[in-house]
Amino acid sequence: MEDHKTVKRFDNSPEANMAKDFLTNNGILAVITDEHVGQIFSSAVKGIKLVVPLDQYEKAKKLLEDEGFADDVYTESVVEILEESGALLAGHFKLTSGQHSNRYIEKIKVIQYPDKVEALCKMLIEKIGDTDVDVVIGLAMGGIALGYEVARQMGKRFVFTQRKDGKMTIRSGFDVKPGMKALIVEDIVTTGGSVKEVIELLKSLEIEVQAVGLIVDRTGGNIDFGVRTESLLQVKIETHQPEECSLCEKGVSLTVPGSSDK
Ligand SMILES: [Zn+2]
Repeated sequence: MEDHKTVKRFDNSPEANMAKDFLTNNGILAVITDEHVGQIFSSAVKGIKLVVPLDQYEKAKKLLEDEGFADDVYTESVVEILEESGALLAGHFKLTSGQHSNRYIEKIKVIQYPDKVEALCKMLIEKIGDTDVDVVIGLAMGGIALGYEVARQMGKRFVFTQRKDGKMTIRSGFDVKPGMKALIVEDIVTTGGSVKEVIELLKSLEIEVQAVGLIVDRTGGNIDFGVRTESLLQVKIETHQPEECSLCEKGVSLTVPGSSDK
């Protein structure tokens, strides 16, 4: 469907069908495709696409926005960037929690591609760049390239935090002063524990945390850092106990992804 364009992605069919019916009632030839579900994309990353003819795209987009369907205009390109870089994996994975999942995000993959990092950071700045900050703070390791690129594009300073003897610290050699305003940038949060530690660290240094910018929020939007938080993609990945895992039942071989080298 080369003369068609995806106007919106959904993570569930009922919502996708509501949007399709809404567009159809407004004279737009909308079609739902979920060809990627079960492959790289999944419902967890909004794999259900609502597709419209190219010449009706702008009208369809506006109709959906006015009707309140539009939530995240960046979702499609974020998913595409993550997929292209091999960061979104499909299969049968054993997570560090011991639970099993059919999806895995290998976050470090993205930073192999500076142009993709640049694009992701540009989108993140469009969401959160109006924040008044002096310094962008990245979390080692994944947040270093991202934080640096955000700082570069915003024309701000950059520093990163790292764990030293188990304790979160600002990398020595960086100059930070009380009263500075900070934007924290991180690649993916699953529980948000590290970001919370960084917020506590900055508070203890009397640095004001203005906002947190994330590429992927794996809590599905259920994170609360007590400050403005924006993410490019909210994903809720389903996990199962091994004894309840349908992939185990089918005998699909299990992958244990490399543990994160924080
Ligand atoms: Zn399993």
